[in-house]
Amino acid sequence: MTVREEILKNIKTVVIKIGSSVISNRDKGRSALECGLSKDWVRHYARKIKFIRDKGYNVVLVSSGAIMAGRERLEFGRADLTIPEKQACAAIGQSFLMHTYEKAFEKKELKVAQILLSHEDLKNRTRYLNAKHTIEALLEKGVVPIINENDSVTVEEIKIGDNDTLSATVACLVDAQLLIILSDVDGLYDRDPSLKVKSGAEKAQLISHISKVNEDIERIAGKSNNRLTVGGMITKVLAAKKTMSFGIPTLVVNGLDEKVIENIFTSKEVGTLFWSGKGKIRDRKHWIAHTLKPAGTLTIDEGARKALVERGKSLLPAGLIMVKGKFEFGNALTLVDESGNEIGRGLVNYSSRDLEQIKGLKTSAVKSLMGESYYEEVIHRDDLVVF
Ligand code: GLU
Repeated sequence: MTVREEILKNIKTVVIKIGSSVISNRDKGRSALECGLSKDWVRHYARKIKFIRDKGYNVVLVSSGAIMAGRERLEFGRADLTIPEKQACAAIGQSFLMHTYEKAFEKKELKVAQILLSHEDLKNRTRYLNAKHTIEALLEKGVVPIINENDSVTVEEIKIGDNDTLSATVACLVDAQLLIILSDVDGLYDRDPSLKVKSGAEKAQLISHISKVNEDIERIAGKSNNRLTVGGMITKVLAAKKTMSFGIPTLVVNGLDEKVIENIFTSKEVGTLFWSGKGKIRDRKHWIAHTLKPAGTLTIDEGARKALVERGKSLLPAGLIMVKGKFEFGNALTLVDESGNEIGRGLVNYSSRDLEQIKGLKTSAVKSLMGESYYEEVIHRDDLVVF
């Protein structure tokens, strides 16, 4: 089995980032800045998302294009828009973008939902969990969440800035098994493919698989750029670095290739795959147990130990006796029984501060104490490895 086949075999949820250049009218010969939103390309991707959904996968979209669509509608031709002008573009463009998605997806009998995020939302644990829960509830109902940055209300300093980074964060947030970044380039080349090849020099080659993002890769990526996309190749590579460290593969492909989605889902060697699995996909639990450094230790009582070890259950606050270490939501922790024997490792849904407050409490008490930040499990069984 190839690496790509193994990745496909493990997919439950896929995050797809659609760059502005993929859904723009650029083929109509206008300058990149005034090209506007292409309904045809949005319809094309509605068909492709339907194709993926019909395979039984959840799809979360991260779509750019609000500012581009807004520029067209407000007839801003010039490049140097002020921040409020860009935000105005995002405000008018975002609703037009969603309107276009909604109409196209409706034809395919798919419902869409808009979620606008900012850096502040993702930094704040309560809002992070709210976003996670909202997306999970939408997926449960078969809806396709469409996410963008909340450009109209975020000032530059607290912006995520580019949707490559946002898509990586979303992939981690929803525990995706694959992030696909649709761009207007074929993937990462070993040198800038737009430069003229001097006679005798080798042509730029597409790199099909990158198993580690090192300085060389970042340097190569830093050189290629594109005026329409915000981040160019470097933000894609950094996004892939982030997802890889979370155990999620990322595929950067050319979204202007009409067959690219079918090619991906039949394991063809398209684009650049960023994945450290090296022929053998690394199991997420293997990653939790062996790759992450535990940030603390939880001591659990005998009832909880039995529930975890013998009945494959999640860890609830009621079974918690002692919390050691300072950690945040999402950190890896070691679990020990009352005699100090290590029984497993997992990713925690609460910070050490919060756990101190809720340890030993019943679910109903935790709910009223934590309010909006309530999470039923301290560690969900999907995020837990029992030794
Ligand atoms: N959020 C921006 C928009 O929708 C795009 C940012 C990006 O493409 O990275 O226009």
